[in-house]
Amino acid sequence: MRRRPLLRWVFLIATLTLAACARGPVDHQQTLLVFGTLLEIKAFTDKPDAFHRAVADLDQTFQRMHRVWHAWKGEGELVRLNRAFAAGETLQISTELAELLRQSQHYAELSDGLFNPAIGHLVGLWGFHSDEPPGGPPPDRESIQGLVDAAPSMADIQFNANRLSSANPSVAIDLGAFAKGYALNLAIRRLSDFGLAHAIVNAGGDLCVSGSHGDRPWRIGIRHPQGDGVIAAIDVADGECVLTSGNYERYREYDGIRYAHILDPRNGYPVEHVASATVISHDGALADAAATALSVAGPSRWREIAARMGLSQVMLVDEQGKVYLTPVMQQRIEFQRTLPEMIIGVPGSDGSM
Ligand code: ADP
Ligand code: MG
Repeated sequence: MRRRPLLRWVFLIATLTLAACARGPVDHQQTLLVFGTLLEIKAFTDKPDAFHRAVADLDQTFQRMHRVWHAWKGEGELVRLNRAFAAGETLQISTELAELLRQSQHYAELSDGLFNPAIGHLVGLWGFHSDEPPGGPPPDRESIQGLVDAAPSMADIQFNANRLSSANPSVAIDLGAFAKGYALNLAIRRLSDFGLAHAIVNAGGDLCVSGSHGDRPWRIGIRHPQGDGVIAAIDVADGECVLTSGNYERYREYDGIRYAHILDPRNGYPVEHVASATVISHDGALADAAATALSVAGPSRWREIAARMGLSQVMLVDEQGKVYLTPVMQQRIEFQRTLPEMIIGVPGSDGSM
């Protein structure tokens, strides 16, 4: 008689365990507001507790990064570093930020300076250091030329371990084209630390994935840069990131003209010919930097820059909806609509397109 309640418990626990096993992994999803954008975290798992703990951990990490790496708000590390550069002073920074800046210095060089996170003053001049989209006429020609002539470059930064200084006081770091890719990679690694090996982290169409979605790969859509909807769908493999730079989300509009938030460091003006550039790579930070560089490179130089940056999976969409892409990209991408024209180019060709 006394054993019966115990038996009942054993039976109940066994039933619950079986039920959990029978259910198997399912989608768990949560959205965070970080870096001024919505970050959707999804994991295919049977460990909901681990998922919630991982998401809370990522929320904290990203809120901290946002504060520390902000280019123009608050008193974070990057704001102080930019002030030190302007004053010709040396500043000791965290190992994490120093590592991020070393990486971006490398990618800036690989991109022949088309990705140039040292142009923070130019980005500010165009009004993109603001939460609201900028309005009014573009800045005057002389001010733009002045900042271009000052030639801020990542190569001006000297590293003495984590003590940094700049030989050029016009250097002001803006990680807007780079930090998202770095953070997405980090998110995937952190989820894996929590035992979540099948996940996708997506910030407005920029994403990294791990594992698969059950017995299928993760499948995503690439947003059309003109109008609504998706231009293409693609299966994304374990460890891959897909990053797109576009002039459709943040821009300045005046007198019927749109000024993109991606600037050409060579002339100080927003890029015109490219509506979006998409890069697939295992390295999210590289893909983010490269998507920006390829937007600047445009139809005439994209193959050369793709080769310099070691990329095989690239797609550009120009203002007319014309698509330029590498053979590897063409093989795996599924276009969801008829394209006006598709041009396939191998990275490294002479760029005479
Ligand atoms: P998106 O935000 O569409 O993903 P990007 O990754 O290209 O686009 O980031 C654009 C941001 O990067 C701009 O808002 C600005 O802060 C900064 N930026 C603009 N032009 C450049 C450039 N040529 N190199 C590096 N950073 C840039
Ligand atoms: Mg970018």
